[in-house]
Order: sequence, then structure tokens, then C-alpha cells
Amino acid sequence: MVTQLNFSKFNGCSRQAYLTIRDKNYKSLKDKYNMSSRLRDIQDDMLSSFPDGIWVYGDVKRAAADTRAIIEKGEEVIYNAAFISGGASARCDVIMKENGAYDIYAVRPTSRYTRWIDEVLYSKIIMEKAGVKTGNCYVCAIDREGTREKTLSVINVNNPRRERKLEERLKNILKNISLENIPRPHLTKQCGSCPYLEGCFAKEENSIFTLKAIPFTKKMSLYQKGITKVEEYAKMPDCDERARREIMVRSTDEDVYSKEDIRAFLNTLHYPLGFLDFETMEVFKPTDKILSPMDTVITQFSYHVIESEGAEAVHYEFIGDGVHYCEKQAAKELIGCIGEDHCVLMYSDYEKVCIERLIKRFPKFKKKLEAIVENLVDLEKPFANKFLVNRAMEGKSSLKKVLPALYPDCPSLDYSRMAIKNGQQAESVYARLGKMTKEEREAAMRDLKEYCALDTLAMIKLWEKLEFYGKME
Ligand code: SF4
Repeated sequence: MVTQLNFSKFNGCSRQAYLTIRDKNYKSLKDKYNMSSRLRDIQDDMLSSFPDGIWVYGDVKRAAADTRAIIEKGEEVIYNAAFISGGASARCDVIMKENGAYDIYAVRPTSRYTRWIDEVLYSKIIMEKAGVKTGNCYVCAIDREGTREKTLSVINVNNPRRERKLEERLKNILKNISLENIPRPHLTKQCGSCPYLEGCFAKEENSIFTLKAIPFTKKMSLYQKGITKVEEYAKMPDCDERARREIMVRSTDEDVYSKEDIRAFLNTLHYPLGFLDFETMEVFKPTDKILSPMDTVITQFSYHVIESEGAEAVHYEFIGDGVHYCEKQAAKELIGCIGEDHCVLMYSDYEKVCIERLIKRFPKFKKKLEAIVENLVDLEKPFANKFLVNRAMEGKSSLKKVLPALYPDCPSLDYSRMAIKNGQQAESVYARLGKMTKEEREAAMRDLKEYCALDTLAMIKLWEKLEFYGKME
């Protein structure tokens, strides 16, 4: 059945629609609703703006029958209402009767309301088809201004033109999913983000579409010219050098590297050489005025610095208390340990984004924080650009992929032995600190610090590996 959860995923390809609807493993947009309990709480709070409603529960078929019965009784406010019509279904957070028709509300604990417009309009189409008179469509979102209690924005998203387009799209999808035979694949740009790419065009292990180093449009153009395998591409004189290395590592267990590129990267660095990593979290109910709901804030950082060649790395760290907004203190600590002459390595440009946010929030630290930003260098670049690769990296360049690939038998660098294994887990542990007992809290703080410190230690090890290959004769 087409639902608003998978409706927005269809990209116009008839084959994709046909496959999706029959795919038992298809990961629908259900994920969107697998909200964390914190988000769910906020949504429940927001529903209190529509008092005295009746809840509808159960799977969509049962819920649709219950909704119909409740409507027939003349109830005015219904939560989680469900409707089915002609192979398509819709669920609505709230419907509320106004002047003899039901207004539809998508209640979203976020300020980014535009992404929900199609969903409400889709619900309207299905409700009308199911014979229910509809009125206006609204998205209730959190306004970015002011305190949480005053932040509920109700945005009228009526758009008859868009509604007609969606109706046309739904008609096409319903037609495509009921075809007798599977439609033939057609290679378009949209295939790049389609979960069925492998089955359509990349069945072989060495398919050109398995290459990570070149963009999808390039792969598409090669495929259309008959270059369907990576080896064929590697033989071409204009083969991208990064792609060539990615292909080369598939047939060797050795590290593949470019000494010149590594040296050029290392030449951009200087001592004191720092390694910086932040942990952050999204704040749903900010207590501080400078924040808006859903803002991201720094919760802790780890900084290792090597003052001069051959010197031991010195470690600095900061962690908030899990209860109060701590970015001002984090900014002070950051300025305190990162000298204006430090060359600071980060992994991806996330740290830069975080510091730029700090500058906006605390303009009085602007000059010193800007000096840090000036000196940031992205350590992921040499790996993303394939200056150093091996097979175990599987074409990826994330820290958690590159580190074990370059240090496979090193327990001290093994995240899987840690109590906190990834950033998501760190965020969720930090968010619970305020509710923990003293002992639990001490243990959690220790785990959080250990996790964050390992990120910067890992960066040191990656830099050492680059140094090693850069110095090779
Ligand atoms: S890969 Fe392309 S052709 Fe195949 S189902 Fe997806 S969008 Fe359609």
C-alpha cells in the first residue's frame, strides 16, 4: 500500500515504485517517526494544544475503521486518524472539525516545517478520496524564537496547485505498482540515491557504480559509454588518480599511497600541532535565551597538542555537567588551551562549524576563536582524496573506518572495547547525566572523557601513519 511514509520516497521511476511496494525489507520513512523519546515527549506536549481529542490506535486497517466510526459519531478532534482509499493510506497527527470539514494538522517537534507540507497535502488527498470533507492543512512546528512554551507555530500550508501535482504523482505510482511485469530500468541521476541501484545496474562486484572516488554523474557517463567495470576505467588514460588507487587496493592487502600528495599535505602543517574533537548534542528544550529549540551545542572536547617535533602529546579536555548550558565555559577553555600559533587538525570540518557557531553565540570571543578557525586543517582530506588507502577502508574515509584499517591489531585504538563506542551514544549518555545517581554520573563522565580522548589519540595515530609514508624513500 502507498503511505505518506513511502510516497515521498518515490522518485518518479516506475520500476522503483513497482519494487518498493513489493519489497519486504524496504526501509520506509518509518524511521522519521522513530523519534527519540525526548522528541516524542515534545510532540505529546504539543498535542495538548488540541484538547479533548480521541486517540486512534492499531494498524492502519483497524485504525481506518475506527476513525470512520469516530467521525460518524461526530467527534471533533481525532489524534492519529487513519484513512484508506484505492491502494493508498494516510495517517494524520490531528484532525479537527471546523465549519463542517476536518482541518488536518501535522504536529512536528521541529522548526523545519517545509518538509512536512507534502505529507499534509497527501493526507488531504486520501481523506477526500475516502469521502471525508476536508478543510485547511496546517503544520504545527516549533518556532525558532522565544521560549518553548510560546513557540508553537501553526502554519497554513494550503496549496491547491501543489495538491494537484501530488494527486497526479499518486495516480502514476498507483498505476506503476499494479503493472503486471517489472518495468525495465532506465539510468537517470536519481538512480544515484536509489536503494535498487545494485539490482538494476551494479550486479557485479567490480561494477563501475561501486567506485566511491568519482561522482555518480561521472559513473553514469562512463556506463553509458560502455565502461561498466572498474578495471576498464582504470586502463583509461584520463582515469581519476584517486579512483585508480581505490581500484588498485582491491587486489592487494598492502596500503596504497601517494608519497608526493602526502608530503604536500604534511607541508601545510606546523608545530605546535594540535588535534581537536568535539562532542555535541541537539537541545530540544533550551533553557538559555541564546538558543532555539533543536540547536546543536558543544558538550565536551578533547585536545591533544604536540609542541615540537618528537615531543609528547599534552592532553586537554572539557566536559559540561549535563544539566547547564556550558558553551561559554567550553569557549573559554578552548581559547585557554589552543594557542594562536597552533596548527589544529580536525577530522572533517565539523569542528570548524561548531567554532563558527560559538563565534555567533559569544561575539566577545570572536577574535580568539577566529584565530583558531584560521588554523584548522582537515585530517580527513588525505584519506578522502585517497592519498593513503587500503582495502579494509572499503572506499570510505571516516575515522571509524580508516583507523582500524591502518591499525588492525591495536586494542588500545579499538572503539568496540569502549563503554561508549560512537558519537550518538555519547550524545545520549550526556543527555541522561542530569538524571543519574552520583556514582552513575561519575562512571558516565569517565566513559565520555575516555571516548572523546580516543578520537584525538586516533587522529595522532593517523597523522603518524601519514608521516611514515611521507618520509618513505
Ligand atoms: S536504480 Fe534507477 S532504474 Fe532502478 S529502480 Fe532505482 S531509479 Fe529506477
